[in-house]
Amino acid sequence: MSFFRSLFQAELMSSVFGRTDISFSEKLGTFCRAYCRKVTGVVNRHLLFRRGRKFGQKLAALVENDSKEKVDCPLCGSPGNDRGQDVFHGLELIRCDSCGLHYISPRLSQAGLSSFYSKEYYYEYRVWTGHPVKNEAQEEEIRLSSAKLDKIETLASPESILDIGCSTGEFLEAARARGYRPFGVDVNKFAVEYAREQRGLDVRPGPLTVDTFPGMTFDCITMFEVIEHLPDPVGHFSLLRSLLKPGGIIVLTTPNAGCPQAREDMTNWKHLKPWEHICHYSEETLRQAAGLSGLEMTDFSVKPGSGIGYDGGLIAAFRISDEVA
Ligand SMILES: [Zn+2]
Repeated sequence: MSFFRSLFQAELMSSVFGRTDISFSEKLGTFCRAYCRKVTGVVNRHLLFRRGRKFGQKLAALVENDSKEKVDCPLCGSPGNDRGQDVFHGLELIRCDSCGLHYISPRLSQAGLSSFYSKEYYYEYRVWTGHPVKNEAQEEEIRLSSAKLDKIETLASPESILDIGCSTGEFLEAARARGYRPFGVDVNKFAVEYAREQRGLDVRPGPLTVDTFPGMTFDCITMFEVIEHLPDPVGHFSLLRSLLKPGGIIVLTTPNAGCPQAREDMTNWKHLKPWEHICHYSEETLRQAAGLSGLEMTDFSVKPGSGIGYDGGLIAAFRISDEVA
């Protein structure tokens, strides 16, 4: 690294990490974005990857070598239009003419999508996307988990909580500390092992199916930053509905495709990540996905002050709709 670059980095680090008005993960994200902009002239992290970072090269190779799959709109089933925009090595961003969902098609094949959820992914990718890792993560994750539980408690009084995409189980541990019965599922085998062995949690390997928790139903099902990764939102919501107890609630967070930054230029939106975020939701498209699954959106808000979600993120809650119940 050149002398000037390291000088720039030191200056930038002190200006970003010295701030007291934002959380640690926001500082890390701010630093990464500013660094990208300075070094490559662009903000979007996947363009930084393209310029030769080790992980970026791996990612590009994975996408290029993947068979890729062209799909109809994952929400309403309408055929894709021809106005897809290549956003990363042949992955195209499409806005559905019928329902307004933003989705990726062609997208990575199922095998390609699965290859992300390894131990390597967990560490390497989280560093690059500005998420806290390892020990530094603890304080931040606990703070966020507490904010999530505060939010849930304004909506319901659950006994059992099932967290989908629970990773290494920080949220479930916080839920257990408040007296809830916690359960989790994750597709990352490393994360599942960690949550079971280090935290003693009932976390089972994903993806979630009807057989993951045989005969069980839950008061509350949570999905934090998960739904944007899933290929079949309506099928998934329908599965969740079947796992809810009467009066139960689903709470999720996801990047908000209706935020001004995404509306202005989604191709340069920091949450685009077309290799893994295959559907992007706004309030309207989430409401549609829920409606098609026999659910009703009962609560919606954008980046509440509690710190749930990220810039422009949304939080939404659902119950079984009266017509179905
Ligand atoms: Zn559609």
